[in-house]
Amino acid sequence: MDSIFMKIIRREIPATIEYEDDDVIAIKDINPIAPIHILIIPKKFIPTVNDIAEADAPLIGKLFLVAKRLAADKGVADGGYRLVMNVGKDGGQTVFHLHLHLIAGKKLGHETT
Ligand code: 5GP
Repeated sequence: MDSIFMKIIRREIPATIEYEDDDVIAIKDINPIAPIHILIIPKKFIPTVNDIAEADAPLIGKLFLVAKRLAADKGVADGGYRLVMNVGKDGGQTVFHLHLHLIAGKKLGHETT
């Protein structure tokens, strides 16, 4: 399976990379909704949360560890930030390669919809 994020991982299309290791890549969102908007993406192709396997648990945990590290690097760890993972069409997901949004740099409301 393929996705726009797999193309970014393979360097077939450009992106601003904020972090990368063997398992995870983090890139600036092309259409940011806040001053800091980073997508934290497993290099393994997993379409949605519905497709996470038991064996993926460490990888999914790592997404949060990378998010925490990036938040600290960007200076928003203490002030706060939002982590969002949209799931499926009704959940607002548009790229079907699982990813965690790190959104920060402005005061966010408490909305959940
Ligand atoms: P979703 O709606 O699936 O939760 O989030 C997908 C995100 O990917 C959107 O915020 C969108 O702006 C971003 N996005 C879509 N295509 C690209 C791309 O080619 N490059 C980058 N950097 N971000 C993208």
